[in-house]
Amino acid sequence: MKIEVVTLFPELVEVVTRHGMPRVAVDQGALQLGCTNPRDFASNRWRKVDERPFGGGPGMVMQAEPTAQAIEHAKAALGPATKVLMMSPQGERMDQRWFERLAREDGLVVLCGRYEGVDERLVAGTVDVELSLGDFVLSGGELAAMVLIDGIARLLPGVLGHAESAGQDSFSVETGLLDHPHYSRPEVWRGEAVPDVLMSGNHAALARWRLKQALGRTWLRRPDLLDKLELDAEQQTLLREFVAEQTTKVGGTS
Ligand code: SAH
Repeated sequence: MKIEVVTLFPELVEVVTRHGMPRVAVDQGALQLGCTNPRDFASNRWRKVDERPFGGGPGMVMQAEPTAQAIEHAKAALGPATKVLMMSPQGERMDQRWFERLAREDGLVVLCGRYEGVDERLVAGTVDVELSLGDFVLSGGELAAMVLIDGIARLLPGVLGHAESAGQDSFSVETGLLDHPHYSRPEVWRGEAVPDVLMSGNHAALARWRLKQALGRTWLRRPDLLDKLELDAEQQTLLREFVAEQTTKVGGTS
């Protein structure tokens, strides 16, 4: 997968592949990250790419022409069919399903806005999808692009080892649930032991426990996710058990 980010701050975006899974993905050759700077296509000697908005008002607007040329340059490296995504608070909310869908592409161009945004004529004519990180406004699209790159990198084939496959993670399409809780050494930490089942060596019981925790946490924290699922008989039983245990716990402490 090749990702070309169109950004006025390439040094910022490039940091995302210095650590963690994006770095592993680059080292393994599963991911190539490049940046194209609209400033390199500015037609003035000050490399200025922003202008005051027509109609007045505060702030500046990223101009269409240098941005368009940067996108065309990025696309030329990846192929004409490559999708152009723009980071925008007005876009569709990024979620795991988006990451899973985009991780199947061979290449992506990711446009980062700055200032008040990018000239709308460019957005309307060139951008295939606008994606938002959430209902808040950032000063630029770079952090959102870095989130996207991190989220995609860990899904690329071979990047996560088998043991840490993304299939059990929260929101994965495989389960649609939140992840179960995790514990590690020591077995007793500050007087608190890990759940017995983790030390029992009983693989079937462990799998049931993890599934029950995943179901239970989703019920507690994100019931909206459960509404979208059709639980099978075993899952329904496990969730009923979890709910019953919660009620006992609450009753016990009140
Ligand atoms: N005036 C615009 C915000 C511009 S913020 C508005 O109110 O809609 C400048 C740039 O930051 C945007 O063009 C976009 O690329 C990026 N950005 C800001 N908030 C974002 C968010 N929540 N998700 C993704 N990108 C965002």
